Amino acid sequence: MKTTLKTDITVKDICEGFVYNELEGKGLFGLSGKLTIQPEYQRNYIYALDGGKKEAAVIESVLKGYPLGLIYFNKVSEGKLEVLDGQQRITSVGRFVNDKFAIKDENGMPQNFSGIAADKKAKIWETKLLIYECEGKESEIKEWFKTINIAGVPLNEQELLNAVYSGPFVTRGKEEFSNSQNANIQKWSAYIKGSASRQDFWERALDWASKGNIGDYMSRHRYDKNITELKIYFNSVIDWVSGVFTDVESEMCGLEWGRLYEEYHKQAYNPAKVSKEVQKLYGDPYIKNRKGIFEYILGGSVDTKLLEVRVFDEATKKTVYATQTAAAEKKEISNCPNCAIGHDANKGKAWKLAEMDADHVAAWSKGGATAIKNCQMLCKTHNRAKGNR
Ligand SMILES: [Zn+2]
Repeated sequence: MKTTLKTDITVKDICEGFVYNELEGKGLFGLSGKLTIQPEYQRNYIYALDGGKKEAAVIESVLKGYPLGLIYFNKVSEGKLEVLDGQQRITSVGRFVNDKFAIKDENGMPQNFSGIAADKKAKIWETKLLIYECEGKESEIKEWFKTINIAGVPLNEQELLNAVYSGPFVTRGKEEFSNSQNANIQKWSAYIKGSASRQDFWERALDWASKGNIGDYMSRHRYDKNITELKIYFNSVIDWVSGVFTDVESEMCGLEWGRLYEEYHKQAYNPAKVSKEVQKLYGDPYIKNRKGIFEYILGGSVDTKLLEVRVFDEATKKTVYATQTAAAEKKEISNCPNCAIGHDANKGKAWKLAEMDADHVAAWSKGGATAIKNCQMLCKTHNRAKGNR
């Protein structure tokens, strides 16, 4: 069986040519006639809509931007699809946009689709659904459908992929990465969030080796008898991180180590120097984002945006502005010190507060504090010219 994940099909696409059968109380077709919403063999899985509460909840979820969950289509032939799972959700959306029921607004007043605000309408139309298109024999599809619907235990993304691409490769992968007895798990847990039983290490190993295309990768290697290539790559990433950063900090867990490895593993680092720099940055109260410290160091300690260094607050800016402007007025020069020493028309210009930005006199990266005595106001042009030092 072959599966393809579709992420760009919108509610509008699905509801194009939506047909609802009033007598049987079910959605029949969508996707401009290409989609059969209720195929024959699915009858047993259909539940009557629960007094309208469930269908209203579907619409409220869409409006709040909550995910509607995975939807499965079975590709019967070219241009012909059937809903495997998601019939109720699709029918709810189709019925709503066809004014078959109303939802309650903020004031508890019923509103049908025609009556809601244009932006809400657009939000519904443009919502993208997460759809798996499966291709295979009917017996295969039915068997698989049973697997994904194990009562009460919803499968997560990786568990689902394991089911879809089951075979020797997944078996070997799970032996290594989903085995809580594996002595390496403690080491991996320093860099990867999650647990072996929920497939998190296996998922990360696949993600790194496939550069983010897990489904493709699993499909290509499905019948491989070993996972050697994947294991070597995974261990290279882990060994590289633990070699460059010798201290384990809790903020390292869950970072994009696969991407960072690809970007920086060819550069040489001195672990002792790196360790000192990590400690120095951990002790810096002006750094808001400690997770950014590792990429900042790997990139040569230049991109301060990664650290989210604290900025001057409004009160400090106002105070400095007032002092600076009063002094400049006396001397009849611009209140931007850089304009004042220039030779153009701005030499004597008095900028408004909103036209200026706060600047570190001594740059933060050179030890300058985010304190009032290290703050000066510059016109926006000069502040930008000074750049991110
Ligand atoms: Zn200026």
